Amino acid sequence: MTERFTGSFTQQEPIPEDAIEAALAVMRHGRLHRYNVAAGELSETALLEQEFAAQTGAKYCLAVSSGGYALATALRAVGVGPGDPVLTNAFTLAPVPGSIASVGAKPVFVGVTEALTIDLDDLAAKLDQAKVLMLSHMRGHLCDMDRLMQMCDAAGIVMIEDCAHTMGAAWRGQLSGRQGAIGCYSCQTYKHVNSGEGGLLITDDAELAAKATMLSGSYMLYERHLAAPGPEVFERIKYTTPNISGRMDNLRAAILRPQLRDLDRQVQRWNERYDEIERGLRETTGLTIVERPEDETYVGSSIQFLLLDWQPERIAEVIRRCAARGVELKWFGGAEPAGFTSRYDSWRYADSEPMPESDRILAGIMDMRVPLTFSLEDCRLIARIIRSEVSAVYQS
Ligand SMILES: *Cc1c(COP(=O)(O)O)cnc(C)c1O
Repeated sequence: MTERFTGSFTQQEPIPEDAIEAALAVMRHGRLHRYNVAAGELSETALLEQEFAAQTGAKYCLAVSSGGYALATALRAVGVGPGDPVLTNAFTLAPVPGSIASVGAKPVFVGVTEALTIDLDDLAAKLDQAKVLMLSHMRGHLCDMDRLMQMCDAAGIVMIEDCAHTMGAAWRGQLSGRQGAIGCYSCQTYKHVNSGEGGLLITDDAELAAKATMLSGSYMLYERHLAAPGPEVFERIKYTTPNISGRMDNLRAAILRPQLRDLDRQVQRWNERYDEIERGLRETTGLTIVERPEDETYVGSSIQFLLLDWQPERIAEVIRRCAARGVELKWFGGAEPAGFTSRYDSWRYADSEPMPESDRILAGIMDMRVPLTFSLEDCRLIARIIRSEVSAVYQS
């Protein structure tokens, strides 16, 4: 009998009951705007920022309308403007180069290694081309952060972290988002906490925090923030920082607070699923496992493997055969962007140099979501299906 998987790769878990209760309370009082507070009341958004700052150990936190908005705000806060080059990963998703384009700046793409992290040798060769690096921890893979920070510090590069896939991850025990000048997170449905849309930005730099707060649209009401710098910092920047509204609202914040309290447990559950799939895929001929470095604490909310140097038709055949058995694999090597996959050279608004070594890796990256609605048995079944189809095509 041919086994089939019948679950959904896009179905997340429901919003927890305590988060639903908190959301109902906000709707019952009607004060959804973050600065709309009753006398003595602390808004859900301000509390969320205070709690996420404490959770990450950051001095300052700002909640905004999306992860992409957090990235663009970070770029503006560090002073990136029209025409400025910004180093970033060739292997990432569209909101990353999009945030660079949104401020009129130009992405300078840096290659990808077989570990699916930024190629630090390629970065070294390009460091003199920009003053800012937007580092995307794409699909949760952390590069050697010690070496990267040494390189950036030596070259005077400001590093902004895209932690859309690394909320809860760490490098040698230091949480992802704490190495760069600013860490940005997404609270969109497919990330590690779910408010539909939403973003969080953290930093230890008072001036960057004040600028980001003003940029997000604080209407000079910054004193209602609980994780922002003091008014004296705002005094220095408030007349010269534009309002580019992208605030978070109290309804989303109310949904997020209980989820963040539960993050560690969820990370554990993701990793149980990830590890189960990885175990099932090991020692499949033709398939390369992406080994995780010992220094990395990862969040297995998605899994990648490589079909390195396979003919494109044969990869397409694996995808087709897995799909016929209910397993949705995404392919970053496809000629056309499909769904969320896309390649650096498909973002035609940004110039790019050909990167043959990265192209070889991108052409072999297979990617799969691991939602928490999968049981461990589902994970074993999915791995068996992938294993048998990869083997069948490999041997044919
Ligand atoms: C989701 C995502 C973002 C931000 O996304 P929003 O949809 O704007 O919240 C940024 N980078 C990567 C790699 C992402 O996957």
